[in-house]
Amino acid sequence: MSVWPKSISITEVGPRDGLQNQSDSIATEIKIALIDALSQTGLTLIEASAFVNPKWIPQLSDADEVFAGITRKTGVSYSALVPNERGWDRSISCDVDEIAVLAAASETFCQKNTNTSVNGALERIQPLIERALASGVGVRGYLSCAIACPYEGETNQQQVRYVAQRLLDMGIHEIALSDTVGVARPDDIRKMYDALDGVLLPEDSVLHLHNTQGRALHCASEAMKCGVVSFDASCGGLGGCPYAPGAAGNIATEDLVHFAHENGIETGVDLQKLISASKIIEQAIGCKLQSAVYRASQDAHTGPRP
Ligand code: MG
Repeated sequence: MSVWPKSISITEVGPRDGLQNQSDSIATEIKIALIDALSQTGLTLIEASAFVNPKWIPQLSDADEVFAGITRKTGVSYSALVPNERGWDRSISCDVDEIAVLAAASETFCQKNTNTSVNGALERIQPLIERALASGVGVRGYLSCAIACPYEGETNQQQVRYVAQRLLDMGIHEIALSDTVGVARPDDIRKMYDALDGVLLPEDSVLHLHNTQGRALHCASEAMKCGVVSFDASCGGLGGCPYAPGAAGNIATEDLVHFAHENGIETGVDLQKLISASKIIEQAIGCKLQSAVYRASQDAHTGPRP
């Protein structure tokens, strides 16, 4: 019997998680062209932007224009990160299909990023979750620092378990366990799911990996063996840029799709169309995308092995 799942589902987070880490602002029409191209690849879940205070993340200050400009494809869900009630009001007027809210397993990370405690962050998102669920809008909860915190180091897995349980209690059914800094080793992934036993099954979770230390695909592979079938990924591995020291992209959608297809795992995604979509953004950011499969398609004589 195969160790691999029959299929995996991928949420494309490049237009949000990737672009929020770009040092230069990208023109709104480029973002719209990217999202429209991604919509044509077979991806059905796209996190398109974030309704955050432009003072915090100026790169995504055009979320309203992006949502107004995209051509919505039937069968594709377009989501946005919503950190507070002001963001919720904007997201509603833009008719987003799903919102994502923020929680974290680290006190210091919460203080630095959201100016409150772990419990304070959970209390802050509760009214957003209630409103979204009452409006029939899907909600995902990011659980940041699920493996490690940039300030505190290794995360106590009991804290991950606690936050996951609180999110479930608030009615969230999609929890994105996030290796925010991208330091996870395959072992850490297995330990995290062991610690979540009885709270959150691997097959009911989403895994959000960053490729800071080049291990994201190893971690995704281990996660699939644990039973995980839902992943976040960003086209081209967007987010990492040689001109932005310290910034590291998500696991690249191309690399994840290629790995899956090589192992007989269905994704529903057309790799060539995905590469074409990434090309739009590579030309706009002015630096090379980091995805190994994307790079092979552009630089090598042979392209990626089919
Ligand atoms: Mg991230």
